Amino acid sequence: MKSRVLILGAGFGGLELATLLSEALGEAADVVLIDKSDSFVFGYSRIDVMFGKTTLDAVRLPYEDFAKPGIRLVRDTIDADARRVTTTEGIYEADFLVIALGADYDIPATPGLAEYGNEFYSNMGADRLRSVLPGFSGGSVLIGVCGFPYKCPPGPSECALTLHHYLTERGIRDKCDITFVSPLSTPMPASAEMAQALMDSFEDFGICLLRQRKVIRLEPGLAVLDDGMELPFDLFLGVPKHTPPQVVIDSGLTEDGWVPIHLATLETRFPDVYAIGDMAATGLPKSGTFAESAARSVSTAILAKLEGAEAEQNTGTGTCIVEYGDGRVSYAELDFLTGASLQAIYHPPSIAGKTFKNGFDGHRRARWFNA
Ligand SMILES: Cc1cc2nc3c(=O)[nH]c(=O)nc-3n(C[C@H](O)[C@H](O)[C@H](O)COP(=O)(O)OP(=O)(O)OC[C@H]3O[C@@H](n4cnc5c(N)ncnc54)[C@H](O)[C@@H]3O)c2cc1C
Repeated sequence: MKSRVLILGAGFGGLELATLLSEALGEAADVVLIDKSDSFVFGYSRIDVMFGKTTLDAVRLPYEDFAKPGIRLVRDTIDADARRVTTTEGIYEADFLVIALGADYDIPATPGLAEYGNEFYSNMGADRLRSVLPGFSGGSVLIGVCGFPYKCPPGPSECALTLHHYLTERGIRDKCDITFVSPLSTPMPASAEMAQALMDSFEDFGICLLRQRKVIRLEPGLAVLDDGMELPFDLFLGVPKHTPPQVVIDSGLTEDGWVPIHLATLETRFPDVYAIGDMAATGLPKSGTFAESAARSVSTAILAKLEGAEAEQNTGTGTCIVEYGDGRVSYAELDFLTGASLQAIYHPPSIAGKTFKNGFDGHRRARWFNA
């Protein structure tokens, strides 16, 4: 029986799910994958873009290169709602609907961020900083997280470490101080070893970490934190407050900010409507590899219904990778759901870690984009 699968969002989750269904069903897959963009960019590429190691154009992976049997990738903007989806071009109906629209940024939620600060989590923000940073000649840099949850828990730590090396290479590190404001209890709560190594590096590099605090407002040259503390800055590098895309909020699928799902199956309260990736209220890190493991589970659920195969539960597995900015990379393999408690295997920062990250990146480029 041929059944229509509609996947909203061609990011980490949507690309992997479409690939898995194509691999399993070939031309018989009847999958439409919709995204408003013309290309995909790995989140971690933004750190490279902001520090001038590459350009936005160089890291864009065009969707026209995502060619898979049984999959039709449509460029369109989604307007609403469950199972029957209206886009700017028309209406799509489906037997299975998978919402993988990621998380957006709510910049106005932090007054002053747009006027007096910079954010580095969007393509545009990272690209803008690429031209701002070379003009910075010294002073106080504040890396501030404006909300929780946010994507890639170690992302701002990567920014702090890479900034240290960037300023050192430019010969102005001694004219700068770096402060990092984090809402988390440690820079990486899921791995105590990774967190400790990061805090040791912050100490070695003279980076001041302020934990369990958020930036709630910016004034010219001044950040106000949620505990009332005021921190002066010359350069503000922020992680904006995250929100599900407005279309998901308008569809009525969200509760307390994100889309509630059954953690084991990723199904929403509507049968055969699933939510995967950053917009799902899983309580797990908002990270590409967790969107991928969710996609694996949903692919088996769809195949089970189509072909009687066995559905596999969400494993809650993923790998968090940390770029140190000096050629070394650390990573932690995390498994939240298959055992009785969280399992974390930590790999300390090393050049071999960078080889691992290059392989991670290359594998997905080849798998999704034939690149
Ligand atoms: C600086 C930074 C570093 C990161 N580092 C890592 C890392 O090392 N490893 C890792 O695994 N993760 C990392 N991440 C996190 C990772 O990028 C996200 O968690 C991941 O992309 C989430 O996947 P997703 O499928 O939920 O959403 P996304 O990948 O964000 O995809 C959502 C898609 O939906 C589309 N969309 C949204 N709204 C609409 C609409 N209305 N109509 C049509 N299309 C729409 C978007 O265009 C987008 O393509 C990082 C993120 C950042 C910002």
